[in-house]
Amino acid sequence: MRILIVEDETNLASVIERGLKGQGYQASVVESGEDAVLFVCTEPVDLVLLDIGLPDRDGQEVLAELRRLRRDLPVIMVTARDDMPSKIGALDRGADDYITKPFNFDELLARIRALTRRADQAQAATIAWRGLRIDLLSHRVWRDEDEVTLSRREFALLEYFARNPGRLLSRQQILAAVWEYDFEGESNVVDVYVRYLRNKLDRSLEPSLFTTIRGSGYRFDPPPPG
Ligand code: CA
Repeated sequence: MRILIVEDETNLASVIERGLKGQGYQASVVESGEDAVLFVCTEPVDLVLLDIGLPDRDGQEVLAELRRLRRDLPVIMVTARDDMPSKIGALDRGADDYITKPFNFDELLARIRALTRRADQAQAATIAWRGLRIDLLSHRVWRDEDEVTLSRREFALLEYFARNPGRLLSRQQILAAVWEYDFEGESNVVDVYVRYLRNKLDRSLEPSLFTTIRGSGYRFDPPPPG
């Protein structure tokens, strides 16, 4: 369980970081909105504590950006502004919860636990976007209304992509996660399986769900809303 702390007050950030580590969480700190977005693009993160007053960008803008990258990522807004408009704004933009500074550390822990329980339950069942639904229990997949039959390996690859939408995933990362070994040297097995998924899941006339990043790997882009 890895928590990203986005907080420009260095003392507060390190108190939270130490506290979370003391509870057995992995914790990392970034101090700006740009760094938060970059971190979520490149590192596995399970929950974000997001300060609303950041030096470079408004926390609510950062929240919207994080939501575009990872719709299911739990985010707790940390706000010093104890006024309703900013709270409502944050919840409208997809924050899962908020906490007002100064806060009691036990309260923060309780909120983190509540949120991760919810996320675990949701995660256990399905991952869905408009037009693409993945049932993680029965390993069934639907594109629009039609069920798509995938092999075990195809499903595992799709699940890995779906758990990391918007992230650049290298062939090595994909091999390690889906084939569960570090493949030395050249292998085109990932490319072959991405082609299988494209054939089964992409719609003609629409961009592929799986973007090739030349020389690097692939990025899964969920179907756009609307
Ligand atoms: Ca701040």
